[in-house]
Amino acid sequence: MKSVCILGASGSIGQSTLDVLARHPERYRLHSVTGHTQVGKMADICRKYHPRVAVMADEASAKKLKTILPRDLGIQVEGGEQALVDVAADAENDIVMAAIVGAVGLIPTLSAVRSGKRVLLANKEALVMAGHLFMREVKTCQAELLPIDSEHNAIFQCLPTDYPEGITKKGVSKILLTGSGGPFRSLPLDQFANITPEQAIAHPNWNMGPKISVDSATMMNKGLELIEACWLFDVPPQDVEIVLHPQSIIHSMVAYNDGSVLAQMGQPDMRTPIANALGWPERIHSGVEPLDLVKVTQLNFEQADEKRFPCLRLARWAVHQGGTSMTILNAANEIAVEAFLNNQIAFTRIAELIENTLNRVESRHTDDLQEILLDDQRARKMTRQLINQI
Ligand code: NAD
Ligand code: MG
Repeated sequence: MKSVCILGASGSIGQSTLDVLARHPERYRLHSVTGHTQVGKMADICRKYHPRVAVMADEASAKKLKTILPRDLGIQVEGGEQALVDVAADAENDIVMAAIVGAVGLIPTLSAVRSGKRVLLANKEALVMAGHLFMREVKTCQAELLPIDSEHNAIFQCLPTDYPEGITKKGVSKILLTGSGGPFRSLPLDQFANITPEQAIAHPNWNMGPKISVDSATMMNKGLELIEACWLFDVPPQDVEIVLHPQSIIHSMVAYNDGSVLAQMGQPDMRTPIANALGWPERIHSGVEPLDLVKVTQLNFEQADEKRFPCLRLARWAVHQGGTSMTILNAANEIAVEAFLNNQIAFTRIAELIENTLNRVESRHTDDLQEILLDDQRARKMTRQLINQI
């Protein structure tokens, strides 16, 4: 029996994780769930799944949750950022699902890593902003890091189990990172400026939170995933090729020296990578429909167009620069996406703002947490200033 903590339980990945866990009551016990401000949703989760601890990052929301939860459920309710850090490190947890969105997830996720847990990483922004520090801590604290992002989980499944010894030594020639191209893969370029938040978050294949949906529409998601792949599998960016695959059936591939290309396929449903990482090295049921390839009929592939999706070029630039360029890229993107979702800026401004922020905020090579957080804050401030000037 393993105990599980879900950071970001009220989100899309959190809900899929709860669904998979509930299919295996004999294997997993839900220790804790965390949310931010969605009190109603967290109360529903508590009533349905009976965690031992529920944490709201927002203190006022924790107070509200406490008042509406029936006492006889016996659920301990905590509030505040320190409570997130504590619950992630709680000695009673064996597995921590890191599914908070954005840079705010870094500190609680690091807390789980530093306590040597099995960490299921959905929160890609944490790795993008502090990859060097993050991977160092995974090693020194002997955490077990397993990727949840569908592409990285696919790559993980296509690599030999001893890949941490070095993937080129194991005969890997290239990683093929697939992406659907999002909702605007073939929209005429002159219509990009008029894209609305509603259009951007309506992803053709995946049902996800608003931030990652916009990232998929700009393809910054694939840019962040390129950086994520470099850190997780210790590969240089030139060995990761981005391939558009509109059906989202192949979730990524690994090419070997002998000409073999291994692909992982499945329905576009996050419960597959979640079940894979929860159960690994065993295979457990996820509730996902079996894949019917006759119904799929076609698997198509295209080259990714960096003119259409300048965020890809910016992410490649940042990873080549190294250091906190990736922190700055991520921070600027978070602020720009938030402004777009609030109808403050046009879709095409997102990439512009990130590029202008990268040009104005100096990066450095560091794996000091305080310096990384400082560069994250400097970038956010700069992007906000640039938005105010529009
Ligand atoms: P979501 O918006 O649905 O959920 C986000 C979660 O983070 C919620 O539980 C929310 O309460 C929590 N949160 C937000 N702000 C917070 C704060 N300030 N403090 C504490 N908690 C806070 O997002 P999602 O789609 O579930 O994505 C979560 C992460 O997983 C992201 O990093 C995303 O890139 C990654 N991911 C998601 C998918 C997907 O299919 N949804 C796929 C791959 C990777
Ligand atoms: Mg992904």
